[in-house]
Amino acid sequence: MTGETCVATALCPGSFDPVTLGHVDIIERSARHFDEVIVAVISNPQKTQSLFGLEERQELLEKALSHLGNVRIEFFKGLLVEFAKEHGADSIVKGLRAVSDFDYELQMAQMNQRLSGIDTFFLSTSPRYSFLSSSLVREVARFGGDVSGMVPRHVNDRLVEMFRGKEA
Ligand code: ADP
Repeated sequence: MTGETCVATALCPGSFDPVTLGHVDIIERSARHFDEVIVAVISNPQKTQSLFGLEERQELLEKALSHLGNVRIEFFKGLLVEFAKEHGADSIVKGLRAVSDFDYELQMAQMNQRLSGIDTFFLSTSPRYSFLSSSLVREVARFGGDVSGMVPRHVNDRLVEMFRGKEA
């Protein structure tokens, strides 16, 4: 024993456009297993059809995660493993919803391992959220569908406000 304290920090990366209860579940569970969790919001997403700007995504996330004292939110650009190194994070946590997530996530985890030695841990999604993705929430909300129960209440309120009277 050297007396040095070793802080285990994990990254939960994603676009969070917007944050869903599936995300909150994975982040809450990660926060139980790691000393610190950094929610890493991709600020140069490939996804061109974004709904919320970065600032609003951050606000919605902050409110959704305010009960978790060891979680903070940061933006990143470029390689996730570089961001991880800069922030002293030694692990990445991803949620696995279905087999369709697996191929891509496995490849990405192996690439990140090869690039930096950083390991990826997979949490199986809670069954009640296994169908849930931000893109589907955006699509349903856009057409006036009810997504309460899939996103935090304040996110639902924002979506309702955004699309009220303009289903198209
Ligand atoms: P989405 O895939 O919903 O568009 P993100 O790109 O923001 O959203 O997802 C970030 C990560 O959050 C995903 O890689 C996945 O690990 C996890 N995630 C998203 N939705 C769920 C869910 N319903 N259950 C478990 N994990 C999820």
